[in-house]
Amino acid sequence: MGSHSALQILKGARDEGMRNLVICKKGMERVYKTYPVADEIITVDSWDEWEGLEKELMKRKAIIIPHGSFVSYLGPERVKKMKAMYYGTKEILEWESDRDMERQWLLKSGLLLPKVFERPEDIDRPVIIKFHGAGGGFGYFVVKSAEQFYEVKNRKYPDENDFVIQEYIVGAPLYIHYFYSPITRELEIMSMDKRYESNADSIGRIRAEDQLAANIHTSYTIVGNIPVVVRESLLPQLFTMGQQVVKVSKRLPRAGKGLFGPFCLEAIITRKLEIYVFEISARIVAGTNPFIEGSPYTALKYDVPMSTGRRIARDIKQAIEKGRLKEILG
Ligand code: ATP
Repeated sequence: MGSHSALQILKGARDEGMRNLVICKKGMERVYKTYPVADEIITVDSWDEWEGLEKELMKRKAIIIPHGSFVSYLGPERVKKMKAMYYGTKEILEWESDRDMERQWLLKSGLLLPKVFERPEDIDRPVIIKFHGAGGGFGYFVVKSAEQFYEVKNRKYPDENDFVIQEYIVGAPLYIHYFYSPITRELEIMSMDKRYESNADSIGRIRAEDQLAANIHTSYTIVGNIPVVVRESLLPQLFTMGQQVVKVSKRLPRAGKGLFGPFCLEAIITRKLEIYVFEISARIVAGTNPFIEGSPYTALKYDVPMSTGRRIARDIKQAIEKGRLKEILG
């Protein structure tokens, strides 16, 4: 689907010698014409045309590579029902999209998570309020007492009742991009990023006094992604975290083949180097986009520029060559 990380996925397929096609909503095709990485571009007026398109994809023996926008535009129900070949485990989407199930999974994996407060009355430290389904961090706010919570909530979001109250972790955000292949049975760290957010990333440019005077509130609307390389001594722990998440996913009820392919742990690292994980994305994340030509980590492992998009294509290619395609289709 033409959005999110499609350029990278298309180029990755091409670099591995596979034919590719991209489906674009009208208006987006220009991107895929300008950057000539697609063998074919199909344009649609709306995603409601999906059912017809799916038949076409099946006829062509295409394999769908899901990314963040794919799941959010089509919705998990339509994705679940899809008959076309699909890279990844569909069942894992439910574990990823339900906040309680996701938390259960991460806790079982032995990860450190921000505390969750059941009731506003329990707030005893800075917390971040997250509305469910708030794409791109829209509307999140930070408070440190029940009184402050009700003041903001009643004034700005009186009708929103689906939210979580999470301990606000002060530290450096780090998004770790993993890849686990059921074919090689190896977990790889492909790259890492931090997000470039408006206005969270610009607030520090003015004095606290001026922020108060201008009545500026922090927002986390994502604009882009910035590459990060971590201190090398953190790597063993990051590998263990990814390994645990994969291992536990195989034992989760109704999670099919478990987690494989690209995924991302979204973390905040405190000054004491504690790693708090606040979310998992069980698919390719847009934070891998700065690494179309590979990352410092993939440069150490591969003798060709290896993006996450290309790694997916290679997994598919190796599965086909070994007669194990079924193992990587959801
Ligand atoms: P996604 O797009 O991955 O589904 P999102 O964009 O809706 O998620 P989050 O990833 O939940 O939003 O986070 C938005 C912003 O809030 C990020 O900058 C993140 O670092 C910050 N954030 C989230 N949870 C916490 C927390 N517990 N403590 C401190 N900052 C947090």
